[in-house]
Amino acid sequence: MTSNHSSSSLETFLDQSLSDLKSKGLFSDIDVLDQANGPVISINGQKKINLASNNYLGFVTHPELIKASEEATKTYGVGAGAVRTINGTLKIHQELEDRLAKFKGTEAAIAFQSGFNCNMGAISAVMNKNDAILSDELNHASIIDGCRLSGARIIRVKHSDMKDLEEQAKEARDSGIFEKIMFITDGVFSMDGDIAKLDEIVKIAEKYDLILYVDDAHGSGVLGGGAGTVKAFGLSDKIDFQMGTLSKAIGVVGGYVAGSQKLITWLKSQARPFLFSTSLTPGAAGAVIKAIDLMEQDTSYVDKLWENARYFKEKLQRIGFDIGQSETPITPVILGDEKLTQTFAGKLIEQGVYVKPIVFPTVPFGAGRVRNMPTAAHTKEMLDEAIKIYEKVGKEMNLI
Ligand SMILES: *Cc1c(COP(=O)(O)O)cnc(C)c1O
Repeated sequence: MTSNHSSSSLETFLDQSLSDLKSKGLFSDIDVLDQANGPVISINGQKKINLASNNYLGFVTHPELIKASEEATKTYGVGAGAVRTINGTLKIHQELEDRLAKFKGTEAAIAFQSGFNCNMGAISAVMNKNDAILSDELNHASIIDGCRLSGARIIRVKHSDMKDLEEQAKEARDSGIFEKIMFITDGVFSMDGDIAKLDEIVKIAEKYDLILYVDDAHGSGVLGGGAGTVKAFGLSDKIDFQMGTLSKAIGVVGGYVAGSQKLITWLKSQARPFLFSTSLTPGAAGAVIKAIDLMEQDTSYVDKLWENARYFKEKLQRIGFDIGQSETPITPVILGDEKLTQTFAGKLIEQGVYVKPIVFPTVPFGAGRVRNMPTAAHTKEMLDEAIKIYEKVGKEMNLI
């Protein structure tokens, strides 16, 4: 066992903070998968039906994506060799961005190394301390951090509450103290699976001259035939920033913004992760291009995802669980109590269904749930087996 140096103040901090986290039940050990994060996973040699990934379309293990990644690696090498603005822009990056723009219905696109750093970079490249950002209270952590980094005034808006959005937008506009005002929202909210009311949002934005930024991490590959929430609403020409991730439905890694040529030109000259962090690997870029090919050529992946999601939701509801108001494949089983949620998830995992309990502070206190993500890669047999285990554990615990 090696022993690393640590200063006594660090040691004290870590000891106290870790025990504090543990005593609050906010610390969890990380499970290690023996093989790929597919529809069935293996942990310590034990197989579990996997309902915890974001691998919506099953692309993580798709043979054609793997092949495309290998081919791009052979042609361009394992790394890009530099940041994009020095000489790390390879033809395959250019091709990726052209394909993303076309797929999203915008003039141009910029790719980042992850969705998280895309939000960090893109928001702060445009917004600054003279501006205000209206932000839905359930927005993703990377949006919250990106907004903070920008230095703009952050104004929380009640979740999907159009009356509150309009009031806050009016107040910010009337104050006359902000140069620019942005509204930023998830396209699909990852904990409840509800969809942002983009049609109403666009109307309010037009009235108060708001910049619109939609983070479609959970809408891309899922809604609008795969092209996302904005496409599903037919609003591709009304949203300034269509941000998305390449790590969820697309199955690889990376993030992007699709928008006007002028916006993308600005981001490519100002977004700090683009300027100061080495670009996506050629293998990742190649696999993503193949994923877009597949979605464009063939609707069966998205169709299968929805078919499985509907099937799974209907059965869960029929055996008596509260699955909330999701409008997408994200399927919460809402239990409420934190401890109960943890125990329930633990038993499901023990019996062979891998799920994650989600409790306060990720969701409001008393709104604990087990989140399920059926994917296109699951078979009916896998979903039936998962339902059987849900029913068994639910009855044992007197929940249904
Ligand atoms: C997952 C997620 C991100 C981050 O994407 P990564 O590519 O995993 O870094 C950003 N926004 C939302 C809404 C997400 O769900």
